[in-house]
Amino acid sequence: MQRILLAVPDLTGNEARYLRECVTSNFVSSVGPFVDRFESMVAEASGAGVAVAVSSGTCGLHVALLALGVGPGDLVIVPSLTFIASANAVAHCGATPWLVDVEADSWNLDPVVLADCLAKETHLRDNGLVHRATGKRVAAIMAVHSLGLPANMEAILGVARPLGVPVIADAAAALGASHQGRLVGDLGADLSVFSFNGNKTITCGGGGAVVGNDEKLLGLVRHLTTTARLGNGYDHDRVGFNYRMTNLQAAVGCAQLERLERLVAAKRRIRTRYDQAFADLHHQIMPFPNPPGSDGACWFSGCVVLSADLEKVDQLRAGLQQAGIDARPFWKPIHLQLPYRDAPKTLQPVSEQLWSRVVTLPCASGLTQEDQDRVIFAVRALL
Ligand SMILES: *Cc1c(COP(=O)(O)O)cnc(C)c1O
Repeated sequence: MQRILLAVPDLTGNEARYLRECVTSNFVSSVGPFVDRFESMVAEASGAGVAVAVSSGTCGLHVALLALGVGPGDLVIVPSLTFIASANAVAHCGATPWLVDVEADSWNLDPVVLADCLAKETHLRDNGLVHRATGKRVAAIMAVHSLGLPANMEAILGVARPLGVPVIADAAAALGASHQGRLVGDLGADLSVFSFNGNKTITCGGGGAVVGNDEKLLGLVRHLTTTARLGNGYDHDRVGFNYRMTNLQAAVGCAQLERLERLVAAKRRIRTRYDQAFADLHHQIMPFPNPPGSDGACWFSGCVVLSADLEKVDQLRAGLQQAGIDARPFWKPIHLQLPYRDAPKTLQPVSEQLWSRVVTLPCASGLTQEDQDRVIFAVRALL
């Protein structure tokens, strides 16, 4: 029997045709018609005014943080339960992540813990919000829309705005998501960043985009991604980056975005089917979060094992792997990662509980009902 993989790109649209167009027209680099088209498509799909295409989500986060003024010696609030790239982007700026726990209902940055730790551990000074223990400035708050589910932006902005701290959203896998009818790039963050890595719902092979509504800020992002070049000569006004997306990547991205709704609908269908199939097992496993008001992009699906015995989690993952089913662990929280062990942090009960208990299950947009039934049967048998 064939292995059922966790995530597989669906390249059955115009991908090959658009790539051939790049080759025949010689537009393969970072200038080309597909890059412009991709940027307008991302802006429209995300509900933001402007989009800047970049070479990866990590690069997008890096320049977005720089554009918001994050620099050496600063702190940036980051939820601990995220992919390590969120924290790495902060470190690339010479700053340090301040790790805050997530909430159990959404797996996203907990606004109550955030407000509490800022109230207790910071004070407002002339240069901004300062962390008392280290004297470092809190230069930004990064919300992460984990697995494509929007973070509680209203509450996070409610904490950040009065303190004058900018908010960036790591929306890596969230294109297609919305909250109370508003698209994910229009939820109030100063800048939001998407990833189009190979394992995301929409892929360019690799790639990313920074979106927002402040044209000047997005102009700065664009400037930073293009070696901070002024005009057509070789004048550069600061240390910039070569972070632009190529026309080849954008060609694939355009073909993918033409099918955004269908691909995200497939992801949601897979999620709902798992949740319904496991509904009667609620004493043993819990579904991925689905808070009211939000329409997540359902990047990954799976379950959370409730048993206090962590062996049970390993047994489930191993049993599924043996049955030819790709079942995996979830992000290890950032505060447990070697490079960030000394980073300031809140208590992390939720992140730690989730990390040790999540089992991700196959959820490629092209997963057939037969294959999903095989996964469901195997999970039920193993439990
Ligand atoms: C995928 C992902 C990234 C990184 O994006 P790349 O394009 O791989 O650099 C960052 N943050 C989160 C939450 C992600 O899921």
